[in-house]
Amino acid sequence: MYDYKSAFEAAVGKVREEGRYRVFADLKRVAGRFPRAVRRREDGSEQDVVVWCSNDYLGMGQHPVVLDAMKSAVDQAGAGAGGTRNISGTTRWAVDLERELAAWHRKEAALLFTSGYVANEATLATLQKILPGLIIFSDALNHASMIAGIRHGGCERHVFRHNDLEHLETLLAAAPKDAPKLVAFESVYSMDGDIADLKGTIEVARRYGAMTYLDEVHAVGLYGETGAGIAERDGVLDQIDIIECTLGKAVGVMGGYIAADAVIVDAIRSWASGFIFTTSLPPALTAGALASVRHLKANPQLRAAHQARAAELKRRLGAVGIQVMESSTSHIVPVFVGDPVHCKMVSDMLLEEFGIYVQPINYPTVPRGTERLRFTPSPDHDDAMMDALVQAMDALWTRCNVARLPAVA
Ligand SMILES: *Cc1c(COP(=O)(O)O)cnc(C)c1O
Repeated sequence: MYDYKSAFEAAVGKVREEGRYRVFADLKRVAGRFPRAVRRREDGSEQDVVVWCSNDYLGMGQHPVVLDAMKSAVDQAGAGAGGTRNISGTTRWAVDLERELAAWHRKEAALLFTSGYVANEATLATLQKILPGLIIFSDALNHASMIAGIRHGGCERHVFRHNDLEHLETLLAAAPKDAPKLVAFESVYSMDGDIADLKGTIEVARRYGAMTYLDEVHAVGLYGETGAGIAERDGVLDQIDIIECTLGKAVGVMGGYIAADAVIVDAIRSWASGFIFTTSLPPALTAGALASVRHLKANPQLRAAHQARAAELKRRLGAVGIQVMESSTSHIVPVFVGDPVHCKMVSDMLLEEFGIYVQPINYPTVPRGTERLRFTPSPDHDDAMMDALVQAMDALWTRCNVARLPAVA
């Protein structure tokens, strides 16, 4: 008989052998004291830690405006949505949130999904049903959820070198002139912290009659006058055909969405299996996200504080010769380690000895030899936390003999 157990053991063994077996940190975030959290060790003992790798970039996950809205929605409407959007799952907050999101991105309509992953997967797969013969041009560093959606549909696809517009143009030029085409890319790339050339990409796409699909997951709430993302910052909101975002990162709650022309949203709404056949987001989440988005729109000083904290951490690490990857022109602070064993070791020591939590980023998330630690300072990471972090890193860099750059003042 088939030995199922060994097959599963072999699957886990393979991951272990490659040094990418993951152990999750068991954390309880402390509302009102983020980025502090309490970690539970395997033996059950507890440790206070400062989280340095959360994607709750602005601490909206603990903002009283958000928490009050969520509690109030539970009190008014209960726990779950009760069904799919089609079957009694369309709650008032979902409708209001979609309107708010559409207006934020200056689009006619928006559509909620249960996560950003699902939004990408469902939309990119469904576009291929709606546009037979679609050819998708995908940036080499696109997120796994975009790749999943593109593959799921099975259409012809071409991967262009990361942010390489000449390569994109070569590929577009080689495709049949009349075929429907889509260029799929991100604004802020979360591992290198670089930002795509939106204007340039749009310009090339338009020249070849291609639609544009932009993932602003790591930019929404964080860039632009009202926080609508890099497309707002760069003044090109009206030139992107489909914008995709999450409500789980800077918005601090959970869920995903697309924003686009009404007819595009209507078509996806009508055809996307990953939208139609799943229970919709519960009132507490949509109400919390709505409150968060309204707050983000009205409070640009949060974005300024966020950028200032990121710049400060980059400066302080640079001052002790710790190499922040030059690629980063965003709020993401990737620190180059360049070796998987060192990377994991430094991360373990930061946690156990210093109560500093930052997870190692190893292959296959990033190429071998570019292993790194990825810090995401928020407005709530104060000077004392930064001092503690930089001192701990400085000590460990010496102890573990990690290469440094000449210190920059
Ligand atoms: C996190 C992430 C997603 C998925 O969003 P979730 O709401 O977490 O599912 C999509 N795209 C990118 C680039 C991401 O980093």
